[in-house]
Amino acid sequence: MSDQIKVENPFHTARFKPQRKGKKPPKLIAVVHQSGCTGCEVCIAGCPVDCIELVPGPDVNNPGYQQMVEIDLQRCIGCQNCSQDCPWETITMYQHDDAFTAWGNETLVSELYVEESKIAK
Ligand code: SF4
Ligand code: SF4
Repeated sequence: MSDQIKVENPFHTARFKPQRKGKKPPKLIAVVHQSGCTGCEVCIAGCPVDCIELVPGPDVNNPGYQQMVEIDLQRCIGCQNCSQDCPWETITMYQHDDAFTAWGNETLVSELYVEESKIAK
C-alpha cells in the first residue's frame, strides 16, 4: 500500500450500509491479512454487522479469480467472530489505534478505501 492517506471510498456500495452505532469506537478492530485470504467467505457469514466485503482478485483482467475479503474498519464492532471463524487464521484483532497501521501493512489492494486524490471533486 502506498503512503498516501486513504479515505473511505464514497462510491463503494458498503457506504450505503448502516453506520456503526455508539459514540465510542470499539477497543478491537479486525484486519485481514489479505495475502493469506482464500476468499472462502466463511467470515462474511458470521459478521453481525455485515462489514466484510468480497473484493476482486489482483488480476484486473480476471477479477473473479483469487478473490479475497476486506473489512470496513469504520463499521467493524470488534466482536471477534471473524478472527475465530477464519479457517486460515488470517484475520487478526488489533487495538483500535493500531488497526489502521496494520491495515496498511496487510492490505494488498483496497476497494473500500482510496487515495483522496482519486476522488473526483
Ligand atoms: S470483528 Fe465482528 S464486526 Fe468486526 S469484521 Fe469481524 S465479525 Fe465483523
Ligand atoms: S474466512 Fe478467512 S480465508 Fe475465508 S474469506 Fe474470510 S478472511 Fe478470507
